[in-house]
Amino acid sequence: MEKMVNHQLIPRGIKDERVIDAMSKVPRHLFVPEKVRDRAYDDCALPIGFGQTISQPYMVAVMTELLELKGTEKVLEIGTGSGYQAAVLGELAGKVYSIERIPELTAFARANLDTTGYRNVELKTFDGSVGWTDEAPFDRIIVTAATPEFPQPLIDQMSDDSIGIAPVGTRFSQMLLRIRKDKDKLTESRFTPCVFVPLLGKYGWEE
Ligand code: SAM
Repeated sequence: MEKMVNHQLIPRGIKDERVIDAMSKVPRHLFVPEKVRDRAYDDCALPIGFGQTISQPYMVAVMTELLELKGTEKVLEIGTGSGYQAAVLGELAGKVYSIERIPELTAFARANLDTTGYRNVELKTFDGSVGWTDEAPFDRIIVTAATPEFPQPLIDQMSDDSIGIAPVGTRFSQMLLRIRKDKDKLTESRFTPCVFVPLLGKYGWEE
């Protein structure tokens, strides 16, 4: 874990001490299937079953840093996968809501989050491209699957002073897009190129 932080995150420019601390704490090896456990801290995404992946540690760090979490925020994640990103968010925010479309992965993530003791993370199996209306608005929204554009329902569910981040582009390559919402004003910025598995659903790609 220390090697991952010192070799993959800090030298590539991750600066937020709270993000570095959180990623030093969350036991990533308890969020991957046993057969890839020995590679849990490698500098890459890893398979978690059902054709899905746990994201590369550096990408988790970049996206988390861009959220500028202070500790009290209500966060929505789309694409729970293993639950690892949700646990990192759980370390840094007040409450985390995370949506996954594959029920077996929601169960996998729930078990991983229970084993590691993250009690401020709520999960549901659903099409996350439409968001979580009952719990909106959110101070931060993070989409961890590739999307053709930032889903409009998610923008609508952002609070008046909020940040959203998503890998936006084609099915094969994307850029991290950050949207800042200040009441009615939206400001967009683009960051690192990346490759994520697709967001499948009403406001993503067709299944
Ligand atoms: N954040 C995850 C982690 O920490 O392990 C990794 C996410 S993985 C790169 C992308 C996930 O998004 C997959 O588990 C996939 O099933 C899920 N996904 C794709 N489309 C979705 C949708 N419409 N709603 C919810 N989850 C979706």
